[in-house]
Amino acid sequence: MDLYSSYINRLIAELSVLPGIGNKTAQRLAFHMINMPKESVENIARAMVEARNNVKYCKCCYTLTDNEICPICANEARDHKTIMVIENTRDLNAYEKTGKYNGVYHVLHGAINPSMGIGPNEIRLKELISRLHDDVNEVIIATNSSIEGETTAMYISKLIKPTGVKVTRIASGVPVGGELEYIDEVTLSRALDARVEL
Ligand code: ZN
Repeated sequence: MDLYSSYINRLIAELSVLPGIGNKTAQRLAFHMINMPKESVENIARAMVEARNNVKYCKCCYTLTDNEICPICANEARDHKTIMVIENTRDLNAYEKTGKYNGVYHVLHGAINPSMGIGPNEIRLKELISRLHDDVNEVIIATNSSIEGETTAMYISKLIKPTGVKVTRIASGVPVGGELEYIDEVTLSRALDARVEL
């Protein structure tokens, strides 16, 4: 027998699948939603469905975007010969906020992590290498300074070096284990300025 209502139980079960939401938080959210204006709940539901259905991967840099090609890749004023490699779209936003970077990006959607079964084929590495057929001057590796981020950086640098394209790594102004998206803009800009050639 359902303790509350079958609808509430189902809502709690669905909310619990989200990362960081345990059963208690799901219950709190579910009861909160029941008391919200119907229109607000409908807006949340619609935003979730529309985001899931309409967000795409940019065909060039693989960031998440509404278009086939994201606004950065489509911008002629950006330096398309400099590619910054990052782990996810949130990191791209962090670098864009600095306003100091005028190149383009490549979003890997993860980092190499053998213990989790994530190898080079599970992230967008092949796609990065195929972009090097175009005229590229520099690849800046800006993966996180976690073990996975460093492993990925070393792997990419070994892969790219034989092509003759310059490979750099952002400086260690980014704290060890630090996630890019939480680092302030000044530190990020400095890390970019002080990048070293690999
Ligand atoms: Zn793009």
